[in-house]
Amino acid sequence: MALLIETGLSDWMTDEDIARDIRKLAPELDVRTPDTLGNADEITMVAMVQMREDHLMRLPNLQLLQKLGAGVETILGHPSLPDHMRVARLKPDAPAQGIAEWFLAYILRTQRNMAFHETAQASAEWLPKAPVFSPDTVVGVLGLGHIGARTARMMDAVGFRVLGWSRSEKQIDGVTCHHSPDALPEVLEQCDHVCAILPSTPETIGLFDAAMLARMKPGSQLLNAGRGDLIDEQALIAALDKGTPGHAVLDVTSQEPLPADSPLWLNPSVTITPHVSGWYLGDALTDVIQNFRNLTAGAPLLHEVNRTRGY
Ligand code: NDP
Repeated sequence: MALLIETGLSDWMTDEDIARDIRKLAPELDVRTPDTLGNADEITMVAMVQMREDHLMRLPNLQLLQKLGAGVETILGHPSLPDHMRVARLKPDAPAQGIAEWFLAYILRTQRNMAFHETAQASAEWLPKAPVFSPDTVVGVLGLGHIGARTARMMDAVGFRVLGWSRSEKQIDGVTCHHSPDALPEVLEQCDHVCAILPSTPETIGLFDAAMLARMKPGSQLLNAGRGDLIDEQALIAALDKGTPGHAVLDVTSQEPLPADSPLWLNPSVTITPHVSGWYLGDALTDVIQNFRNLTAGAPLLHEVNRTRGY
């Protein structure tokens, strides 16, 4: 039984970097990369970011697709994913902390008028402008899972009023939690900043259409680090023109990389970051190692994805 590392990405850690780190932590494991593949029949687990079209055909004894990340929609949506194939994801601390910080950075950028002061400095102008007082600010967090719950707690620690929204009922200290589709518009109406960290599922795709965007508070800010397909981007551009919401900060877009001719790039009401909010794997490789051991031993997997629920 062997573990293949094949991320499918060229602009992140290399397969050899990841394999080397895993071998350091668990020298006894048979860890391979595409360059050291050997007998493909021996591969039982692949650790990857983007599913390759030929993974399923090339590796006849594959049992587990281990996502080196959280979003599994492209794996579950693969037309030839066999019923027996297991899928696991990661829930590491480092990217959850990173994404919570990304949300906080872009909220504080607005609260503290950072863009305004940078522009004023460029023309040597001394222009005092009142920052927004944190206790008067309502931050909504959509998705209260591994990353969302951490984000909501960070927002509470900063001193914002925090509302949360998820599929099932939750209790988080300092956060007023709501659940179910009906509750979402009521949450949106109250929020100055909405932090979306939801998975891509049939229920969330296109959730932010023109009607939902219109339920946001005028002038508020929509921040999305979950998946780009949450937002109807044409409807967003039209909604921003009307000022509801007033600004969007997008770490994820419906097409990635975002095409150079996308109108989102040059829209002054949009801030784009290229899917960098949760960059570091941090402690995650220990879970990959544990999952390879568990798979080999027939033990339950860490963070196995519920294929029916979609996350
Ligand atoms: P979790 O599975 O831990 O949490 C998902 C949350 O979304 C849960 O609270 C869940 O509710 C909620 N949810 C799911 N469907 C619905 C729905 N229909 N209505 C309301 N709430 C819903 O995932 P993570 O927090 O680890 O990650 C979330 C997503 O973030 C990932 O799926 C991925 O797409 C994205 N991501 C983006 C990254 C980036 O770099 N930009 C990096 C990592 C992740 P409940 O708790 O009730 O089940």
